[in-house]
Amino acid sequence: MLDKISLLEFGPEELKEELASLELPNFRFAQIPRWYFARKAGSISEMTDLPLTLREKLAEKYTVFAAEMLAHRKSDDGTEKLLLQWPDGHRVECVLLRDDRNHRTACISIQVGCAMGCLFCASGLDGFVRNLTRGEMIEQILRLNQLLPKTERLTHLVIMGTGEPLLNLPSLLSALNAVTSQENLDISKRRVTISTVGLPQGIEKLADAEVSYRLAVSLHAPNDVLRNRIVPQNRHTGIQKIMAASDYFFEKTGRRVTFEYVLIDSLNDSREHAQELTALLRNRTAIVNLIPFNPVQGLPYKTPSPTATRDFAETLQNNGIDMKIRFRKGNSINAACGQLRRSWKESKE
Ligand code: SF4
Repeated sequence: MLDKISLLEFGPEELKEELASLELPNFRFAQIPRWYFARKAGSISEMTDLPLTLREKLAEKYTVFAAEMLAHRKSDDGTEKLLLQWPDGHRVECVLLRDDRNHRTACISIQVGCAMGCLFCASGLDGFVRNLTRGEMIEQILRLNQLLPKTERLTHLVIMGTGEPLLNLPSLLSALNAVTSQENLDISKRRVTISTVGLPQGIEKLADAEVSYRLAVSLHAPNDVLRNRIVPQNRHTGIQKIMAASDYFFEKTGRRVTFEYVLIDSLNDSREHAQELTALLRNRTAIVNLIPFNPVQGLPYKTPSPTATRDFAETLQNNGIDMKIRFRKGNSINAACGQLRRSWKESKE
């Protein structure tokens, strides 16, 4: 039997084309997506204001959610993580984060596996498998939205899960276009952050796309020698080209770029590193997110000491660099990128 096609793969015009043979009246093309975007339906059978014959006809070939949910973990801090398996057997993770400012944030994956091979990341350990489709990205968002009570909905979106977003940009932009649209989830574009390892051409394309999303660059090191080690992709670009592309993004969009810096004990957390980072960002309109590393099973790196974290932060602050320390949530459920997928795989082997 052939796998069913998810309706989430289709934008409004594509849906009309796809279902043309059913000769549906126009209002059905507003009614059907309203079920999965606004009314949190995950299946065609839930669309109770469609005639039963139409539901049956649609269900022969289509579905809403395509994945099987293999795991659903909840952490004491309100973080929830899902492990989804697509019909081809590949798996991805997505995370719902809650905070006390009533932010409800979905963090989704963009690829199965990742080719970037960052030193501290569980997702890169098995390499790249394939890009996710528009529908697979939307499904993660809608499934996380379903975890919220009826009175709540997602407010923020971070594209920080497994994969490099700028290598799957057309599908990502199509998915984001759907969920930010007013008649769907209506997540403000300004509350969407795309996090990249730093691919200069991709950053420029995103700036040129004029889509109002925020950009976060995972820097993790203030010089090329160290960054080549921590983020191997850097050997092909170098920090200066990334900074130039980030400057272009700021000029074009007026949005300041966030630089993510995962602090790893005795690797990139010294005061000298903080001074180098200061020199790199001085005279730039940017903000730094310092993220103390969470240990990952199978990797030898450690969390920096509280003193090193404080010293690093103070060095930036004392030099006028805008920064925040962000602690990773959901430790007890392997919430860091790729950890649940990997631990699931290992437990089955
Ligand atoms: S940190 Fe992101 S870019 Fe780097 S290997 Fe992991 S998923 Fe890929």
